[in-house]
Amino acid sequence: MEFSEFADRVAAVEAETADLEITSLVAGLFADAGSDLPVVVRLSLGRVVPAWESTTLDVGPSLCHEALARAAGPNVTADDVADRLADAGEIGAVAESLDLGGQRGLAAFGDGGIDPLTVAEVDDRLRALAAADGAGSHDRKVEELFGLFTRADPVSARYLARIVLDEMRIGVGEGTVRDAIAEAFDVPVETVERALQVTNDYGAVAVRAREEGPTGLEDVTLTVGRPVRAMLAQTGTAADAVGSWGSVAVETKFDGARVQVHHDPERETAVFSRNMESVTAALPEVVEFVDREVDVPAILDGEVVAVDDDGDPRPFQEVLRRFRRKHDVERMREEVAVELRAFDCLHADGTDLLDDPLLDRRDRLTSILGTGVSPLTLTDEVETIAGREAAALDAGHEGIMLKNPESAYTPGKRGRNWLKRKPDVETLDLVVTGAEWGEGRRANHLGTFLLSARIDDGDGEFASIGKVATGITDERLAALTERFEPLINEEEGADVVIDPEVVFEVGYEEIQSSPTYESGYALRFPRFVAVREDKSPEEADSLSRVDRLTGE
Ligand code: AMP
Repeated sequence: MEFSEFADRVAAVEAETADLEITSLVAGLFADAGSDLPVVVRLSLGRVVPAWESTTLDVGPSLCHEALARAAGPNVTADDVADRLADAGEIGAVAESLDLGGQRGLAAFGDGGIDPLTVAEVDDRLRALAAADGAGSHDRKVEELFGLFTRADPVSARYLARIVLDEMRIGVGEGTVRDAIAEAFDVPVETVERALQVTNDYGAVAVRAREEGPTGLEDVTLTVGRPVRAMLAQTGTAADAVGSWGSVAVETKFDGARVQVHHDPERETAVFSRNMESVTAALPEVVEFVDREVDVPAILDGEVVAVDDDGDPRPFQEVLRRFRRKHDVERMREEVAVELRAFDCLHADGTDLLDDPLLDRRDRLTSILGTGVSPLTLTDEVETIAGREAAALDAGHEGIMLKNPESAYTPGKRGRNWLKRKPDVETLDLVVTGAEWGEGRRANHLGTFLLSARIDDGDGEFASIGKVATGITDERLAALTERFEPLINEEEGADVVIDPEVVFEVGYEEIQSSPTYESGYALRFPRFVAVREDKSPEEADSLSRVDRLTGE
């Protein structure tokens, strides 16, 4: 296909506003693309290389301005191009407005005529440009671009300039391309979607759809070494999770950077970031660890965390000092140690696991990795989830993730099968006004604490609002018992009344209206966060703050 035809058809797409019509135009373009199909598909998305390849064109505005100025002749400078850009607002309009044809004679060859620029040739030249590296690469890039611009008609120049600067913006996103592939080659959209998730290669998927139809698309498999998009999470509460799935897989939410590790015993292990860039060179420990532990081809999903000498988490900022680093990796390795916390397995020993339930993938993960797997708790109780969250926070982690144990791995999707526990809206600082003695093993300890809010203008009076038992370790219970014993002023059975002196900071999922407590409210799933040593009962939260938090 000639590039000018591609440009004209893309211009028609850009001029269209109705979504369905846009999809049809793009589908028509794909149907007519012949052997240029993969390139046409990528270029319509403004891409030269598939998303999973780490190559980039690496052309900045000034380089593009320089090439355009040269193609426009001796009277135009790169500064002129920049000025025009300031007026026009986008590079395509500037490229289209310049008289690039004036220089065509320079590029004429063969019989003295000008070979029309083809889509294939543009692709070849842009790839050559992407590969240009090292000394002199700036000049070579300008030269390549100049060569292309001199042979471009105005509409072609518009889209060339935009592609080069990664500003295609014709209203065609990945969803449109997916739908257009389905329409052009008469395959179900879901089948195209799935193949795209697995390969991340729009061009290759279009070719397969055309040549092999739905069955061919269903057969696409993951390739070890080629990253896929990471599955993402929405926010949600423990009650949502239990309500939706019954049983919930609870994992620690690590405060680090997402990585996908591709291991093949025959090749070098590769580590990719969430954006599918290679970060292999920056994280030698991760590579060494996986090489040591795993002896089958595998794709692992996980988080890289910075750890101290005891293996405890260090702040997220520390990971950033290591992630994507290209220089001084060995020196930084001494300063900031990182470790992998794997939480999913997408492929193991020749088998893709994307469609297997989470728990099966986790079993596979544990069997191939052994250590370094993030622990998982399976429960159907909100209380247990709250306890797990408290423990995770206590250990210095970011929180917890709630996952549907039956769910498949859906690359790139921010679905409802993974939930990040919504942080408590705001914690409350409440006064402890009572407690209950524990049972069994905890009989000598106070176990459950009655919490009260300050009554505004109440002269030191408090109104109860809930009880907290979750999130307190045995060790802390012992210390708290010692502390509260002298404050007990009434006892009846297991219940004790405590003088209001100590303030607890508590988290919760919700504040509900309830007749159970004096305040008229009850905290749903309260969780102990800390003793507010810095606060006296007079400084605890008041009922009017609770009113405000509930929106009353
Ligand atoms: P957010 O970045 O807030 O959208 O949270 C999702 C991110 O949490 C993921 O992309 C991971 O980088 C990170 N994360 C930490 N621990 C886990 C885990 N156990 N499962 C999934 N994602 C996790």
